[in-house]
Amino acid sequence: MTITAQSLYEKLRHYRVGSPLCEFTEEHCARMLPYIEKIEQLKQEKNAIILAHNYVAPEVLFSVADYTGDSYGLSKKARQSDADVIVFVAVRFMAETAKILNPEKTVLDPNPNGGCSLADSINAGIVKQLRREYPDHTFVCYINTTADVKAECDVCVTSSNVYKIIEAIENDKIYFLPDKLMAQNVIDFLKEKGSSKQIDFYDGTCYVHEEYEAGSIDFIRKNNEGVEILVHPECSPPVVGKADYVGSTTGMLEHVRESKSDSFFLLTECGLTGILQTEYPEKQFVGSCTMCRYMKSNCLTHIASTLEQPLPENIVNIAPEVQQRALACVDRMFHYAGR
Ligand code: SF4
Repeated sequence: MTITAQSLYEKLRHYRVGSPLCEFTEEHCARMLPYIEKIEQLKQEKNAIILAHNYVAPEVLFSVADYTGDSYGLSKKARQSDADVIVFVAVRFMAETAKILNPEKTVLDPNPNGGCSLADSINAGIVKQLRREYPDHTFVCYINTTADVKAECDVCVTSSNVYKIIEAIENDKIYFLPDKLMAQNVIDFLKEKGSSKQIDFYDGTCYVHEEYEAGSIDFIRKNNEGVEILVHPECSPPVVGKADYVGSTTGMLEHVRESKSDSFFLLTECGLTGILQTEYPEKQFVGSCTMCRYMKSNCLTHIASTLEQPLPENIVNIAPEVQQRALACVDRMFHYAGR
């Protein structure tokens, strides 16, 4: 369907998170149209698809993105795609994961400096050292890691499957990296199930999710009768312990879509609340907004210029030997998740 300024505005006018810059007018939407048209034309010419994470700017999600989702869903789309070119609109480690899964395809990253406080907290040299210190452990890495780190680990997980996969791994000794808060949540989950697994973990955090405090949930509940609290597993255990639902961004979207409640508080990057505001303008989304500066540094102009004439840093390259070992790590995730 052809996008017009009016049709884009209809989707974005209920978006009310973040600064006033996140409030869209029809004029604002009209100014974006030339970029959207150019990107659509380039997609046709180059047989390209655009995968965009739920946290990126809404004008990308609601215009040029062919698929939107969480890191697990987008990894699956990357694996199934028959496009020649994949443009991954998110952060660097996600574009790298698409390249790990599609070494023969061109993977473009319009946001080459898109870091992540988790992925940037650890490198392959640290993992090699940890493996010497914990020789009997199965090394499980969160998907928020570079290709080099995945290549040194045994099994990859995402927020949508971390509990299930760690529970299913045959070894009782697990080293989880890099998110210490997610590791603590997994430990609590396993304890509740009576599991005897020993989980050692690294010291990284997501700078967005570690900010949430359990006290703010009490405050929101007290002032919003019937509110449902949805929490991402990158939050701390006291926050997770007060949630009505814990899951990935796609899990949260699905939960709200199925819920009978009229009021929600989502403790995750605020793009998710924005998506739901556009879908359910009649429902109430309470709480504060926390933006990920890395995800939000994607924009239509960078996507257009990357598709038209990528700079060397826009093209994701991974050494074949690293790609092979990282692929084995990611493939084990699909194996365990599909059980
Ligand atoms: S929200 Fe947190 S985990 Fe996600 S990309 Fe941003 S810093 Fe990384």
